[in-house]
Amino acid sequence: MNPLFDTHAHLDQIPDLQAALDDAREAGVTGIVAVGTDMESNEKTMRIATEWKGFVYPAIGLHPGHLGVCDAARISAELRFIEENLAHCSAAGEVGLDYHKRIIEQVPREMQQEVFREVLRLAVAARRPVLVHSRYAWTDALRLVRESGVSDAVFHWFTGFSGVLQGIMDAGYYVSITPAAEYHEEHRRVVRAAGMERLLLETDAPVWYGRTDRYQACPADIVRSMRVVAELRSESEEDVAAMTTRAARRMFGGTIGQAIEEVS
Ligand SMILES: [Zn+2]
Repeated sequence: MNPLFDTHAHLDQIPDLQAALDDAREAGVTGIVAVGTDMESNEKTMRIATEWKGFVYPAIGLHPGHLGVCDAARISAELRFIEENLAHCSAAGEVGLDYHKRIIEQVPREMQQEVFREVLRLAVAARRPVLVHSRYAWTDALRLVRESGVSDAVFHWFTGFSGVLQGIMDAGYYVSITPAAEYHEEHRRVVRAAGMERLLLETDAPVWYGRTDRYQACPADIVRSMRVVAELRSESEEDVAAMTTRAARRMFGGTIGQAIEEVS
């Protein structure tokens, strides 16, 4: 089996991490980008990446869903942490916009955009790719990413409109595919319509998937993402594994490997 790469997993939220990572290796996973959501999660993610160096690569961010509990001082502290540590990480994220009704009741769109712009600016300065959350905010998320001048971005678990997907492709950005593509029609459409060289795989572990048979994902479930892409694109599983892992290496560049600056 060709190697697999999980571009988005919340390893800081997985209880038995040793077992989950052993299972991932067994399933053919050669690397995982561990994604933080706020300062505590970012710190833990960086520690995990140090412990599993060469297998786990850290991304640090500020999830829009967390902004509801942040006052201005807290947001500044969160952004400062990202600024000070991004050079030691593979990517900025998870960050972005979430226009779900429940979220915007707590955090207005403008405030979300302000934070997102700032993290994008930090990513440009540190020359790091960005892992973008864009639920129901696809058009604005793409616009802000483009305006920032960031060179590499992944629209994770993308389920947005065809026009926005086209914009993502035209700009040379990426979309990442979760196991939800087994049953979620909008996500399946993205798998079919995206350029093959712009597709990445992810699990977003430890989220829950499934409509009837519910299960909590771990990074080994990247195999499900790979299989459903193979099925929908009429490609062999071997080729999908090879192409998506190659795309991940291209996207993250030297940051998944030796080039991350050592934490002093
Ligand atoms: Zn996530």
